[in-house]
Amino acid sequence: MQKKELLYEGKGKRLYKTEDDELLVSVFKDDLTAFNAQKTGNEKGKGALNCKISTLLFHLLESYGIKTHLVKTIDDSSQLIKKVNIIPLEVVVRNIATGSLTKRLGIKDGTTLPFALVEFYYKDDDLNDPLVNDEHCLMMDLLKSESDLEELKRLGREINSILKKFFEKRDLKLVDFKVEFGVDKDGNILLSDEISPDSCRFWDAKTDEKLDKDRFRQGLGGVKMAYEEVLKRVLQKRD
Ligand code: C5P
Repeated sequence: MQKKELLYEGKGKRLYKTEDDELLVSVFKDDLTAFNAQKTGNEKGKGALNCKISTLLFHLLESYGIKTHLVKTIDDSSQLIKKVNIIPLEVVVRNIATGSLTKRLGIKDGTTLPFALVEFYYKDDDLNDPLVNDEHCLMMDLLKSESDLEELKRLGREINSILKKFFEKRDLKLVDFKVEFGVDKDGNILLSDEISPDSCRFWDAKTDEKLDKDRFRQGLGGVKMAYEEVLKRVLQKRD
């Protein structure tokens, strides 16, 4: 499938039209951004690593019945995807407290949460992606109905339980992650965007070493090595 004109450029990906109105090409970029793009960088090969990791994880989730936008990979850093209307919510699921949760609520960093915590953030760069509750989502018409909201929570928890077990077998703690969903032309809610070290936190199970974008956010170095390590573990045969 040939990629045609650029439709949209985000922080991590470029989306191109194709000859099929229902399909797009998504190209993963090497750019790194943090703190709503106040910190920027570039790591050659990062896009290809994220594309590979995300493709493998989307295939894993598909095998458990989670519907996704992924059609197929095209090359090292591109995927053919179904066109969807992105729901303007970041669905964050947390197993261990860190990042904005510890800052907001004063919970000690590294505390294991009593249950998987699902949060919604309104996708709006100008507002700094604020945390929103169910009623904000409904009041602002971010979703069609309360049942869609419940479906996003259910999907978030299900994705978490599949991925958490998958990574435990590969000696990685899935600390937290962000997913996005879109609605296709038939009204199906599809997992969209990506699942990668850019959008998840992974800690080594033995050492708690950070193997994700926090290495960039916190200036720890070794970003590419960490992403390569995550890909290596994802590729380990354990099941
Ligand atoms: O910063 P915070 O602790 O809220 O992030 C929670 C999770 O969501 C982390 O895994 C982070 O990588 C991800 N996230 C993201 N994109 C954002 C905000 C958070 O992928 N815009």
